[in-house]
Amino acid sequence: MTTQTPAPAAQAGLSERYQPLIGGRFASPTTETFAAINPATGAHLADITRGSQADITDAVAAAKSAFPGWAATPVEQRSAMLVELARVIDANIDRLALIDALDIGRRVSETTIDHARAADQYRFFAAAAVTHAGWNRSIAGGIAIAKREPIGVVGQIIPWNVPAIMAAFKMAPALAAGNTVVLKPDENASLSTLELGKYISEIFPPGVVNIVPGLGEEAGAALTAHPDVQKLAFTGSTEVGRLIAHAGADRLVPVSLELGGKSPNIVFPDVTDVDAIVDNAAFAVAHCNGQSCLAGTRLFVHDDIYDTFMPKLVAGFERIVVGSPLDPTTVVSCLVSSEQGERVLDYIDIGKKEGADLLAGGDRIDVPGNEFGHFVRPALFATENSARIAQEEIFGPVLSVIRWNDYDTMIAEANGIRYGLAAGLYTNDIANAMKTADALEAGSVWINGYFNMIDGSPFGGYKDSGFGSEYCAETLNMYTHLKSVTLLNEPVAPFFLP
Ligand code: NAD
Repeated sequence: MTTQTPAPAAQAGLSERYQPLIGGRFASPTTETFAAINPATGAHLADITRGSQADITDAVAAAKSAFPGWAATPVEQRSAMLVELARVIDANIDRLALIDALDIGRRVSETTIDHARAADQYRFFAAAAVTHAGWNRSIAGGIAIAKREPIGVVGQIIPWNVPAIMAAFKMAPALAAGNTVVLKPDENASLSTLELGKYISEIFPPGVVNIVPGLGEEAGAALTAHPDVQKLAFTGSTEVGRLIAHAGADRLVPVSLELGGKSPNIVFPDVTDVDAIVDNAAFAVAHCNGQSCLAGTRLFVHDDIYDTFMPKLVAGFERIVVGSPLDPTTVVSCLVSSEQGERVLDYIDIGKKEGADLLAGGDRIDVPGNEFGHFVRPALFATENSARIAQEEIFGPVLSVIRWNDYDTMIAEANGIRYGLAAGLYTNDIANAMKTADALEAGSVWINGYFNMIDGSPFGGYKDSGFGSEYCAETLNMYTHLKSVTLLNEPVAPFFLP
């Protein structure tokens, strides 16, 4: 007797049709759907309701009616539910990670880390909310206090690259602070968020979390324009972020934005462990298949070390295994869609036409059984900071190496970009490291280890990378009003009337 291994989609236990989560139920007046397609194989994974204005109206109404009860729920109980959600994610991590690998084409080992980090976020904000304090000061005959109050219904919109982390970055602080949520996942990556919705519906009261999949210009625009949404939180491109900021301005509601990036990664000449830095540089640009807002896409290598460093970097790029998202030996897998794949290949072409020196990769390859997918070998260019490939966010595995020798010029070039999300630097000189961290216009600076995000350390952008900090206790401030209350022990003596 032979036992057959189930097909990955069956292993993932996907439903045939996904509906929005509204008021604790998966239902929708909308009949139109869009398809979730495996970007590697082209296989149809599921149909998803194309959330409409009516769905957003229902979801916001459900969130609005759930808000008073949720805001009044003791923070310890809210926290317990977040901890339970984290436990359920951990218990189902293999399935959730497989769903993301099938849905967005990233390798399973990475999507597993995404869900583990997401679980950590729910636990982090469960703890942070309990100690989230207002302010107080004794005054003559009384006390002045400031109380933190949840804002109300929060509208949240996320991109496709790391859906588990994006959903957690948005929902964990909002819920911990006592808000109710309407979340719109990206049309390229809705499945794991809707699966998470199944767990959420068993843990949280109805209406506290509502998830409406759909297109940006339909469900997304309807959510940002809805008069009962009291705060908007968005992660995605700078162009759409600007639309969200306008929508917030029109209704005078607070907006937080996590947008694009084109981060510098700087190698100083005093480094000793060149192999480790080569590894960091490759990881910085090629993790997530390069589809990461904080990718280190501009590598500044000092003249004195350039000739030692570059052959190792080229050899490192040549060793990167490009393969199926389900193959455990894969390092870089498939881009999220044909559209994204063509965009990345177009930029590689632009780089060549601009005269940049292509030192490794940059070609599309066929991966057996996955011929539909755009598998692109990470491209390594030597170029100038002014080149288009060095200035524009490509959102794919394309690295621009820029040779430098003058510190001030290098810093001016590192900052000479519209974005300011992250930066990396490598040196053994702590004074130089701290001076350079101060000089960089970036929300996060990682010294001697790229992408070293620590739970509790703020994550947010400068310049066109947005505003507001996530990932840290201060995020709870973005999801609360600060109300000032002044108490006197007894009424003041008459003092005004003549
Ligand atoms: P995108 O801006 O096209 O889409 C993001 C989300 O916005 C999606 O859910 C989409 O449906 C929605 N949307 C699109 N048009 C809309 C509209 N008119 N109104 C309301 N919602 C709308 O971004 P993308 O291409 O999916 O994602 C890649 C971008 O996201 C990159 O620029 C990347 O740097 C950025 N990103 C930033 C961070 C961060 O934390 N800073 C993290 C991940 C991704």
